[in-house]
Amino acid sequence: MRTVYIDGSFVPENEATVSIFDRSFLFSHGVYEVTSVINGGLIDHMGHMKRLKLSLEGALIPFEVDSDHILRIQKRLIEMNNLDEGLIYLQISRGAEDRDFLPTPSLQPSIVMFTQEKALLDPPQARDGIRIVSVPDIRWRRRDVKAVSLLAPVLAKETARQHGVQDAWMIEDGYVTEGTSNNAYIITRDNVIVTRHLSHDILHGITRQAVLSVAQSMNMTVEERPFTIEEAYSAREAFISSASTLVWPVVEIDGKSIMDGKVGAVTREIRRQYIKASLERLM
Ligand code: PLP
Repeated sequence: MRTVYIDGSFVPENEATVSIFDRSFLFSHGVYEVTSVINGGLIDHMGHMKRLKLSLEGALIPFEVDSDHILRIQKRLIEMNNLDEGLIYLQISRGAEDRDFLPTPSLQPSIVMFTQEKALLDPPQARDGIRIVSVPDIRWRRRDVKAVSLLAPVLAKETARQHGVQDAWMIEDGYVTEGTSNNAYIITRDNVIVTRHLSHDILHGITRQAVLSVAQSMNMTVEERPFTIEEAYSAREAFISSASTLVWPVVEIDGKSIMDGKVGAVTREIRRQYIKASLERLM
């Protein structure tokens, strides 16, 4: 049984309860972060804290983020749960009170955190790559806010499951926005990494930022621009990034193999160097 954190207390997971009037539950009025843990250390803690502040502002949740305090709680959760490899989930809700669209201004937000074990360094998807399908992007227009309203990606992942593949890329106005829970990249035939530019249309991935700096250190050309799914079909390589996957190769899109359908050498190298760089700055 895990020990989890809720509003100042460390408690066994079966004793942590949230009100049925919680605004995350009733209105999706909450934001979250997922941080990867490797060798018991946190990857990119400060990046996640910075994005958390932006999400809180975007969702009008008056919560003062103290990154050192959160780091201490997360380190303690890692210790108490003997977490070596996996994730820490953090969620801040606008709070709980009788149901009304507008919260009482003085309502206190609430915070929960818990650990999840997950193979990050050597899962089969990293070795073999994943197959994906494309689906329409039906999400709201502030995807840079990491809000808990995840019904659209849940449905997209179900569509992927029905197609017998592992994930989906979402399409809007003819262009790929991102994966259901990750950022999307292609490597063109002339070896240029293409990933959508930052805007309200996608989540500003913390892993994306690190991946792009790794790509730079490999002297690769990066173009931050929208790309079509047709461009992806004829790419040399494709991959995704997120805290819970790090970097996973994509070997098939909509039933079409990317090149010979094998994991690409550049993606493999980006993943290797991303992990190496992350391990050097674990917190
Ligand atoms: N895009 C979406 C829609 C996501 O949900 C996520 C992560 O959950 C990402 C991108 C990747 O972000 P990060 O690298 O910060 O995990």
